[in-house]
Amino acid sequence: MRRKLVVGNWKMNGSRATNASLLQGIVDGLNGASAACAVCAPAPYLAQCADTLKGSPVSWGAQDVSAHAGGAYTGEVAASMLADFGCTYVIVGHSERRAYHAESSELVAQKAVAAIDAGMTPIVCVGETLAEREAGQTAVVVRNQLGRVLERLDADGMAKIVVAYEPVWAIGTGKTATPEMAQEVHAQLRKQMLEKNAVAADKVQILYGGSMKPDNAKELMAQPDIDGGLIGGAALKAADFLAIIHAA
Ligand code: PGA
Repeated sequence: MRRKLVVGNWKMNGSRATNASLLQGIVDGLNGASAACAVCAPAPYLAQCADTLKGSPVSWGAQDVSAHAGGAYTGEVAASMLADFGCTYVIVGHSERRAYHAESSELVAQKAVAAIDAGMTPIVCVGETLAEREAGQTAVVVRNQLGRVLERLDADGMAKIVVAYEPVWAIGTGKTATPEMAQEVHAQLRKQMLEKNAVAADKVQILYGGSMKPDNAKELMAQPDIDGGLIGGAALKAADFLAIIHAA
């Protein structure tokens, strides 16, 4: 049985003061929740997360990582540096990075490998735009995005990733995929991994992301291949984030 996982993607939000109360609120409200949970904070606040969450069941992660090991890459953060602070997760290939920073699936795959090599868990995001969905391209788009990552991994490596299906049209829009629509894509992603290795594929948590909120989380996560959520807007309020964790 895969454990449910709920991850907050704070994006470019927060301050030392608001983070402190958000993190404390999450820790205080967990009350033995059965799902695992994590927050992915902006880089300057990762050390704050490391300090505040030490000894708590809440893990933390970064929102991006360099594909390079180190050296002359101004502005980038190496996987080894994140690991040095005890980082658990790294989001790679979020649609905002693909769209605003022209990240290719090839670069995303390199980042996923860099994270695994440093001992972290990459959360590999895939998802179609509205135009792609309307053109009937969803299956081929997400297959290609995930495929680039899988071709660089053996079965052991594949067992170390988390996948997040995030339809671009559902992110931050209040429009959510129906549980059936999401399950269809999640099942397809699972099958793609099964073709590579059945035992490893069965272990991989596939999260749904895109306007997951307290009122739709339970239904989404009741689907057989939806193993949790990657939460944007609703992760910025402790009460909402906790409600999703407790719905899992
Ligand atoms: P949202 O964002 O929950 O605000 O739609 C999800 C994400 O982008 O990871």
